[in-house]
Amino acid sequence: MARKKKKSPLFAEVAFPIPVRHAFTYEVPEHLREILRPGHRVLAPFGNRKLTGFVVDLTDKTHLTDWREIEDVLDPDPVFSDELLRLTQWIAEYYMASWGEVLDAALPSGINLESRRRVELVPGLDREAVLALRDISDKQRELLLLLARKGAMVVQQIEKRLGKTGLNYNLMVLQRKGYVVVHRELIEPRTRIKYGKFATLAPELHDADRLEAEIQQLMQRHERQAEILKALREHPEGISQTDLLRRLKMSSSSLKTLVNKGLVRIERREIFRDYYSGFPVEEVQPIELNEDQKSALETLSELIQQEKFAPVLLYGVTGSGKTQVYIEALHEVRRRGKSAIVLVPEIALTPQTVSRFKAHFGDDVAVLHSRMSVGERYDSWRRIRRGEMHIAIGPRSAIFAPLENIGLIVVDEEHEASYKQSDPSPRYNARDVALVRGKMNNALVILGSATPSVESYFNAKIGKYRLLELPKRVEDLPLPRVEVVDMRKEWQEYHGKPSAIFSRALLGKIAEKLSLREQVILLQNRRGFSTFILCRDCGHVETCPNCNITLTYHIQEHRLRCHYCDFQKPAPAVCPSCNGIHLEYKGVGTQRVEEEIRFHFPSARVVRMDLDTTRRKGAHDRILRDFRDGEYDVLLGTQMVAKGLDFPRVTLVGVISADTTLRLPDFRSSERTFQLLTQVAGRSGRKGKQGEVIVQTFSPENHSIVFAKKHDYLRFFAREILERQDLGYPPFSRIIAIEFKGRNEKEVEKAATRFAGAFSVPGDFQMLGPAPAPISKLKGEYRFHLIFKYDRKKDPGGERIRAQIWKVMDRFGRSRRKTISVTIDVDPMELF
Ligand code: ADP
Ligand code: ZN
Repeated sequence: MARKKKKSPLFAEVAFPIPVRHAFTYEVPEHLREILRPGHRVLAPFGNRKLTGFVVDLTDKTHLTDWREIEDVLDPDPVFSDELLRLTQWIAEYYMASWGEVLDAALPSGINLESRRRVELVPGLDREAVLALRDISDKQRELLLLLARKGAMVVQQIEKRLGKTGLNYNLMVLQRKGYVVVHRELIEPRTRIKYGKFATLAPELHDADRLEAEIQQLMQRHERQAEILKALREHPEGISQTDLLRRLKMSSSSLKTLVNKGLVRIERREIFRDYYSGFPVEEVQPIELNEDQKSALETLSELIQQEKFAPVLLYGVTGSGKTQVYIEALHEVRRRGKSAIVLVPEIALTPQTVSRFKAHFGDDVAVLHSRMSVGERYDSWRRIRRGEMHIAIGPRSAIFAPLENIGLIVVDEEHEASYKQSDPSPRYNARDVALVRGKMNNALVILGSATPSVESYFNAKIGKYRLLELPKRVEDLPLPRVEVVDMRKEWQEYHGKPSAIFSRALLGKIAEKLSLREQVILLQNRRGFSTFILCRDCGHVETCPNCNITLTYHIQEHRLRCHYCDFQKPAPAVCPSCNGIHLEYKGVGTQRVEEEIRFHFPSARVVRMDLDTTRRKGAHDRILRDFRDGEYDVLLGTQMVAKGLDFPRVTLVGVISADTTLRLPDFRSSERTFQLLTQVAGRSGRKGKQGEVIVQTFSPENHSIVFAKKHDYLRFFAREILERQDLGYPPFSRIIAIEFKGRNEKEVEKAATRFAGAFSVPGDFQMLGPAPAPISKLKGEYRFHLIFKYDRKKDPGGERIRAQIWKVMDRFGRSRRKTISVTIDVDPMELF
């Protein structure tokens, strides 16, 4: 590599979105020196590829003796502010992820450039010729035959078929012998800035009288041209050519004539794609806050004015008007010229929610969520970045919104597990990141929930967070009446007649509501028809060959499917193990509930909402809208039906089985159950109608069900926190889970054991395992867990334990077999 001698070279530290912890040093070429800043996206050579990376630092020193140069800078301005660089660095450190991966997760997806190698046979070499070659190994011949069959392939594709081992070496040999050619190509990013033509009036027509005269004149013989000028008069800032012609129902010929006459100009401008452009925006309903809301808002306003970091837990029962309080707080923040982020769980981010915020803040609101296209998300992101929009709303990744001068961050439904990214890395919890970002900005952070997480309520009790409460539903609506049906008794007394799924109480209530033309929501937190098939003769249960999980029966396709890896096969007619014919379809999924409800209530209009019915873009929003508009009587589905919806005509909520979440092998299963029951119960009964809830369960004595029935969060918390203390679970400790995965069970176990062995000196932490994970095999890989619990008093920030784990990781990484992968999850949400 020839390099010119320079007086003082400039170096950039570049972090790449790869699982390597440290940044890499590159020289900044002469022509980029003036431009390049920390936060810039660059293209740099990496191994024998080119990768997009992020400049995290610039220095004039390096201890390296050899280095390469940055190839290109990808954006005119840095994509990250200093503040976001600091935030992402904190995340990388705390969640034990690579900084580059965090930076990558913080950008809208699909904008990075990458290079890859494409391999093909040299012209003239075909299958016959390959078979005749004498100077290659079997493995190399296999590779050539693959290329003969498939044509050109990128290296990653070959890797998928033939494995990684020796691949680079074989390619090198084959290239040297002249059997293959390797091209390097840049992959275009999936999205880029979109441009469109905009029409504006020519400057001389900016004079109103001139324009009027011109229009009058054209009216005589060229009416169409006059129409165009009139339309442009309404849009002095210009209008997109497509929109203009569509609105006037014209082709482009009259417009062209005007351009040729010099009366209209066409220019190329950026277009912002907007997912919500076609959605109706509600009008602002003037709402007088009630006393509780007023007093909460008063405190929040004071905190906003102090411009200091202030974490607040807003604990308000469902329908207590929390969102209204957020909106007023946002007004206060905007009045002070500051910006804000509102985090909402993905499935609660409905058009209804969005239009409520848009009604108040109009185009100042940028929405970021996964149902939008890559382009739409990118455009929202850019408009925030340019300071054109000041309120960002979205699910967890919206915590990275490129806003400046943040005064408020709201985390609605802060207890939601979906704020935690569990895969891939970085495995961050957006709620906790919100607190850190709030602190960096001296901002107010509101965590809101009707069922606060045990951790957050604990923090409020010990004074770490300020606690504000909204104890009543707005307009003194009563909380729904909850009835718990003991399914054990139901079975003893009634033995599954007339229904194996519905209790008599629930069937009776549904009938009553339907006859009153009121609406019903049914929750069954499992999709599919039956969750397993059991042979009554030999006890055989159909399981996934890749995962240690039963296969779910899907009735439409009459197939068995794995909900983890999507393995599928036709449902068997006889037992695959003993050829017996007594196959039983066990375990109830949403499809089964749907079939049963149609059987009992043939004239009811039923709609099902689960992962299977909401795959298509817009399906989720459409189901909710149609249900709200009264096109259906019954909405049935998984936990998707429980969140953030406001349906005035729903007066009954039925929970088919509260046991599905209760049985999960996780210390949070009671908390989850309590939350889900309370959330879904909150959907019942709004303006002027008493809501009712029926919960069916085989464990009515469980405290999560007992206290959910009474809407008694405080006693649930009191009971739960004792259990956590007894067992030393969060919030009394913190957890770091390490997962070992691989195709060979013995190897995985050995690796996990060796890793654990390196921690022989007991420190400030407790080590559990290694042990097979509750789902011990997933997607063909065996899994072992090693769990660290450390005391928050002894190692408050967790620096000590992370340092120890890194030390072992580094040593282990060097000796580790490539067939075993290790992932680290800090503060995991799920332990299966
Ligand atoms: P939460 O977020 O706590 O579930 P919302 O803010 O969504 O509650 O309020 C529930 C419903 O009550 C909404 O339709 C909202 O417009 C309405 N609402 C909120 N505050 C008031 C109030 N003070 N008076 C009347 N209606 C209100
Ligand atoms: Zn599977």
